[in-house]
Amino acid sequence: MKTIFVDVDQVVADLMPAWLKLYNDEWGDTLTPEDIRSWDLKSYVKPECGGRIYRYLEEPTLYDSVYPIEGALEGVEMLRVLGYHVVFLTAAGPEGARGKLRWLKDWRFLPAKGSGHPWQDVVITASKYLVSGLAMIDDYVENLRTAKIPLPVLFDQPHNQDVEWGHARVRNWSDLTNRMPHADSEMFLLEVASQLDTYPPLPVAPSR
Ligand SMILES: [Mg+2]
Repeated sequence: MKTIFVDVDQVVADLMPAWLKLYNDEWGDTLTPEDIRSWDLKSYVKPECGGRIYRYLEEPTLYDSVYPIEGALEGVEMLRVLGYHVVFLTAAGPEGARGKLRWLKDWRFLPAKGSGHPWQDVVITASKYLVSGLAMIDDYVENLRTAKIPLPVLFDQPHNQDVEWGHARVRNWSDLTNRMPHADSEMFLLEVASQLDTYPPLPVAPSR
């Protein structure tokens, strides 16, 4: 079966609002997801917070206030209907992984009971380049650049708008699923890749 690796944070899980709320509440700031225009989140937070922004990722309750990205549940289900094996590929430490796994289960992103091992469709690693499959959907371009995957797809987020990426890019879930052919299709990968890359860029939010 053709495997599509789907990133969790900012691809199916809208982590950023919950993450920034923890930071804003503690540090008295007003950052919004639209303010974050690059991967280097610590350069947007107050200097006194700095790298401590990443500690929130290990808060066991972080995912309690995370909601799915619009269309993600339907999109993942559609990829399965189209015949793909959807595997969630995500980086996390021990506490972060616990919350994230529970979140995937609670929001019913994992296949229904009875279709195999409950965690067979999840891979937790910061070394995403180790996996092999047909496609990878991720919002972090470095994961896609280092992946040995025929169809790497960049999922739009404010932080990757200025990133140079010469391959497939999608704006949202319906953008992706509307253009993915059935897994048994004879369509060449290059064709799929080119049709995943035909929309105008998002408007750029004013910088702070
Ligand atoms: Mg991500």
